Amino acid sequence: MHLTDLVCTACSKPHDAAVPQNVCTACGKPLFARYDLAAAGRTLTKASLAGRVKSLWRYREVLPVKNDADIVTLGEGFTPLLPAPRLGAKHGLAHLFIKDEAQNPTASFKARGMTTAVSMAKQLGLKKLAVPSAGNAAGALAAYAARAGMETHIFMPRDTPRANIIECEQMGAHVTLINGLITDCGAEVAKRKVAEGWFDVSTLKEPYRAEGKKTLGYELAEQLAWKLPDVILYPTGGGTGLIGMWKAFEEMERLGWIGAARPRMFSVQATGCQPIVRAFMAGEKFAAEHVGAQTKASGLRVPKAIGDFIMLDALRKSGGGAVAVTDEEMIACTREVGAAEGVFVAPEGAACYAALKQLLAEKRVRPEEVVVLFNTSTGLKYLECYGG
Ligand SMILES: *Cc1c(COP(=O)(O)O)cnc(C)c1O
Ligand SMILES: [Zn+2]
Repeated sequence: MHLTDLVCTACSKPHDAAVPQNVCTACGKPLFARYDLAAAGRTLTKASLAGRVKSLWRYREVLPVKNDADIVTLGEGFTPLLPAPRLGAKHGLAHLFIKDEAQNPTASFKARGMTTAVSMAKQLGLKKLAVPSAGNAAGALAAYAARAGMETHIFMPRDTPRANIIECEQMGAHVTLINGLITDCGAEVAKRKVAEGWFDVSTLKEPYRAEGKKTLGYELAEQLAWKLPDVILYPTGGGTGLIGMWKAFEEMERLGWIGAARPRMFSVQATGCQPIVRAFMAGEKFAAEHVGAQTKASGLRVPKAIGDFIMLDALRKSGGGAVAVTDEEMIACTREVGAAEGVFVAPEGAACYAALKQLLAEKRVRPEEVVVLFNTSTGLKYLECYGG
């Protein structure tokens, strides 16, 4: 609502938000939305939130859409932050939480990014959207675009979980399966988009998905009574959620809602695809492509991320880190979380619990700390992983 413009995350060049934008026109890096936070803070107050809609649109003033008429919604966000006492007790943790993002429309947290991206596409008069996806972004885009009456063109790896493919088809999207990875799908979109008149909604090559995802940060603060957790474990692919939360913390500090302290942010990846973990360990500013990427956690199968430098910077500034876990550990952890807490987590969610065990063993997380695991989708979308 109080969007002023877009600014490059690397070179700070400002960009006009009144027209469709992808990446920085000078350096090709991601753009961030910028707001008049002083104006936003006049109506968006902690007290004002009490009576608001139970979706991420409760943070209306710090979301980009100008007119309510352009909002394309299926009731996304404001998901429960579930206490996980039985799981925590196994490790002496008294304050373990699961942010259950499976409870979003299309059963993954990709809905957060797509509600804002598609709403802005509507505001800007776009009609045809295209996306390369590891699975859940495609399902979410297909759903929100259908609701907005737009055409969608989706490119997914052939071995994407079947639920994602079927979901897109049933939402009326044009689906193309590619023999390759999400990076190959992205190359196909890039090659065809100009001739076809498609707007590219790729992770962080479109500035507003991150705005929807940043509401994770606002929700965590609100649900924990304005005290951020000590530790966040986030299953990382393209990194929109991690980057979005980091941005939200900064905005909330400027709104005067929180102080300068930040949670320690940990990026969780699969051993078969861990570009961010490797770059973090090596002290690199950017992450090299993970060659031969492989993991059943399709959301983590992103061998190269355009926002790598933003993630690495946030992990380091937060005092956190990056952890890789095997697919076997994820699958075993699914049952452990399910049996203890009644949540059938996605492999990506299970990965966060597996990573937490590593961090506890290495004494990098202490028992008295407030720890949040992200369950980013549901095991029901990944039945193949469980012999289904
Ligand atoms: C996309 C996805 C991720 C990774 O999210 P990013 O914000 O791109 O890092 C994690 N888990 C699931 C289930 C996903 O669909
Ligand atoms: Zn730039």
